[in-house]
Amino acid sequence: MKHVVGTLAACLALACAVPLSAAEVSERAARLHQRLLVLDTHLDTPANFARPGWSILDDHTAQRDFAQVDLPRMRKGGLDGGFWVVYTGQGDRTPEANRRARDHGLVRLAQIREMVAAHPDQFELALRADDARRIADAGKRVVYISMENATPLASDPSLLSAYHALGLRMLGITHMRNNEFGDSSNAPPEWNGLSPAGKALVAEANRLGIVLDASHASDQVFDQLLELSRAPFVLSHSGADALYDNPRNIDDARLRRLAENGGVIHVNAYGGYLVPLEQSEERKRELAELDARYGNDGSLTAAQITQKLRERDAIDARHPVSNATFDDYMNHVLHLVRLLGPEHVGIGADWDGGGGVAGLEDVGALPRITQALLDAGYSEEDIANIWSGNVLRVLGEAERVAKETAGAG
Ligand SMILES: [Zn+2]
Repeated sequence: MKHVVGTLAACLALACAVPLSAAEVSERAARLHQRLLVLDTHLDTPANFARPGWSILDDHTAQRDFAQVDLPRMRKGGLDGGFWVVYTGQGDRTPEANRRARDHGLVRLAQIREMVAAHPDQFELALRADDARRIADAGKRVVYISMENATPLASDPSLLSAYHALGLRMLGITHMRNNEFGDSSNAPPEWNGLSPAGKALVAEANRLGIVLDASHASDQVFDQLLELSRAPFVLSHSGADALYDNPRNIDDARLRRLAENGGVIHVNAYGGYLVPLEQSEERKRELAELDARYGNDGSLTAAQITQKLRERDAIDARHPVSNATFDDYMNHVLHLVRLLGPEHVGIGADWDGGGGVAGLEDVGALPRITQALLDAGYSEEDIANIWSGNVLRVLGEAERVAKETAGAG
């Protein structure tokens, strides 16, 4: 999720970073964490790939350049990989705008593939559920490709099969606004769920073996996915309404049905969706102005980023605001694991898209989650499922449904 407030929330988290003391993660937890296959289902990092001079191989901590995911910090945090997102902001829905979105999506997809092609000893494209373990065992990072907001397909939905051929394995329908395929969680209903084109897209995703993702979609879209999708689906980065009633979160009754259907909710670390964060109107206005002035398209130079951070720090000083914490994040994770069982919860923290809270500022801090799950009494098998077993099971189900469809046709 890349939008104005999101990016700034991530920076806030970085600004109030507290160094993680080694004592917070026991040796047992650290060893377990490094041994497990650790995947995150929503890495917005590809938005950084177009930045001039930016490399995934560099540690960006010292630059404070907004980036939360890079190879050195993936190693430090034991992150084996995940779903790397083709994100497209939802603008107007004119034919020209839809063509621009089409081009944007294809370029971002190419950038992800180029990153992998440029670093073949460090990264590998994953296409099947059983690829992840093999790639991680070979000492490389796992790159599944996902899409957030299906708007690049609006001008030509048949492009989905081309995306699939190029590696797409997860598809989120909407973002913060409605699109040609369905209603957003954050906009008034227009289609009352999925549009006719959205229903056709669901059938096509099932046919191809692409996992559907209901994060950012309205409750009606969620209900229709339960009814229409022949494979279980996921929420790639969402939270629990029971802890904070927000359009981006889901109520317990729906989550129970998601789990009964074999699906998984991956918990978002976006502070403003974990707990209500008070922000003055003045602060919101200044932050929006800052983002408008610098843009949000990943094309800033290092000097511009430094200048933007300096101005952002000044806004923080003028209008301080509290940030969500690691405990707030774990409250959502533990509520969901208790509600649904450890087979139906995963981690999708929205790195480089607005995720990150005090005490969990970047992927280097991920072992803390394993420690907290051990402290809560979960077994190594439960924790393995949360870190990757569950999403890979859902991907395997999508593969099975696609195979059946091919057999029936
Ligand atoms: Zn998002």
